[in-house]
Amino acid sequence: MTLQSLNFDNRFLHQLPVDPLQGIGRRQVVGACASRIKPTAVAAPKLMAHAQEVADLLNLSPQDCASPEFTQAFVGNKLLDAMDPYACCYGGHQFGNWAGQLGDGRAINLGEIINQQGQRWALQLKGAGQTPYSRSADGLAVLRSSVREFLCSEAMHHLGVPTTRALSLILTGEKVLRDMLYDGHPEYEQGAVVCRVAPSFTRFGSFQIHASRGDTKVLQQLMDYTITTDFPHLGTPSKAVYIEWFNEVVERTAQMIVEWMRVGFVHGVMNTDNMSILGLTIDYGPYGWLEPFDPNWTPNTTDAEHRRYRFGQQPQIAHWNLVQLAEALVAVIGEVEPLQAIINDYPRLYQQGWQTMIATKLGLQAYGGEQDLALFNDLHQSLQVIETDMTLFFRCLANYNFSPEQAKAASDAQLVDIISAAYYQPRTESSDQDMAAWLRRYNERLAQDTHSHSVRQQRMNQVNPLYVMRNYLAQLAIDEADQGDFDKVHELLEVMRQPYTEQIGKEEYAQKRPDWARERVGCSMLSCSS
Ligand code: AMP
Ligand code: MG
Repeated sequence: MTLQSLNFDNRFLHQLPVDPLQGIGRRQVVGACASRIKPTAVAAPKLMAHAQEVADLLNLSPQDCASPEFTQAFVGNKLLDAMDPYACCYGGHQFGNWAGQLGDGRAINLGEIINQQGQRWALQLKGAGQTPYSRSADGLAVLRSSVREFLCSEAMHHLGVPTTRALSLILTGEKVLRDMLYDGHPEYEQGAVVCRVAPSFTRFGSFQIHASRGDTKVLQQLMDYTITTDFPHLGTPSKAVYIEWFNEVVERTAQMIVEWMRVGFVHGVMNTDNMSILGLTIDYGPYGWLEPFDPNWTPNTTDAEHRRYRFGQQPQIAHWNLVQLAEALVAVIGEVEPLQAIINDYPRLYQQGWQTMIATKLGLQAYGGEQDLALFNDLHQSLQVIETDMTLFFRCLANYNFSPEQAKAASDAQLVDIISAAYYQPRTESSDQDMAAWLRRYNERLAQDTHSHSVRQQRMNQVNPLYVMRNYLAQLAIDEADQGDFDKVHELLEVMRQPYTEQIGKEEYAQKRPDWARERVGCSMLSCSS
């Protein structure tokens, strides 16, 4: 297999209306789903890393990926013959307000391929130059945000969270001006391009834009295209199929959020243009990983005041976003009630997924109703009594092996010792009292199950990761990459391929956030500037 034999079918452009205008001229693109646009050539591209598992999805060998043609193609310098690049038109609600046309301002799709297994994969460059949707921005991306997207999307995949993938991470050899903290101190940073890979990059906002313009014809075309291409099991589009499809989008979205809550991921910018119609995690910007368990935490400095996109509110925001999508689809479906019924069922659906998920995190055989719910909610309180690392807490808890009798006889301190490695702050008598009380209740609950400790431990360690893409770890890799050393990027990519398995010699990647990272930009807070 060589690069030139990638089997592009480019169905998106062939089946959907395309903007008749060419070039990057800023414009409102009406009556079309995409605009043809070529990536901007760059001076001196250099491959930093690639993910071979993603290359495998495209049937590309390690040799293919090491070739100069690979770097040239996936930085956007030299298009393969069958590539027909384009930027998509979409709109979106940003921070709760309708923002009108947004679109791929710095994403350029190279086309869609069909691999040897018959799977469809869309290839998309992020940071490859201006498009008609760039508005006043440059269409570029910097090294730090590109490293973060590359590593995190792959880490999420291996954690079992639905996500877009990343094929390659390439330096452009050009400088990009960014005012990282928006405080009047712009600096030049290295530019980079990530090639993202997903079955489709269509967003809620891709439908909203046509609905907002009253363009039901194009809206319906996009709905039909999406159903036949990405949801073929639903059959030929009809009113009933549209409703079933919306129901599936709601289910997938709920499941994605359950997975975020399981691993402690905070997206940071859940605008409707950043919501994938396939229920994939998409657009890694100022995301973050929960270290001390705190439902109010948001990594995004732009969101610091209202915390709309804080960890604990992600389920409700997804619900709100689904309502916006439903409102867009009504124009074609013509009936509010069936959509309303599906929307109304989301809280129950999410809650059910969440309960099952927490039960598995705690090693319970099944969710056992009201009593368990109280146990879960009280744990969330106890985790906030003193700063507790979410990831390490659940790994420690898997080691907890007291019988109810032993737990009764043991001192508070003896019980809490098991999980003390997860604490960021010194324990106190009262914090021990609180956690020990919870652990004794947990004990009572475990006694109702039949699993042995070792079975429970094994099951818990399959859903509670040891390695997550901690904010400070990504930052350390970025600092080194900025100096031309990509080893840490490669190592993190490798470690995160097996996040549930203890890896000898990789202990440094399973540590609590160090003190120096507490207030450092990039480690505890991130801006949208990227
Ligand atoms: P985001 O908040 O990153 O999802 O971006 C919101 C919108 O701004 C999308 O339409 C992006 O394509 C666009 N955008 C963000 N950064 C840039 C940039 N540097 N150049 C052009 N468009 C951008
Ligand atoms: Mg976006």
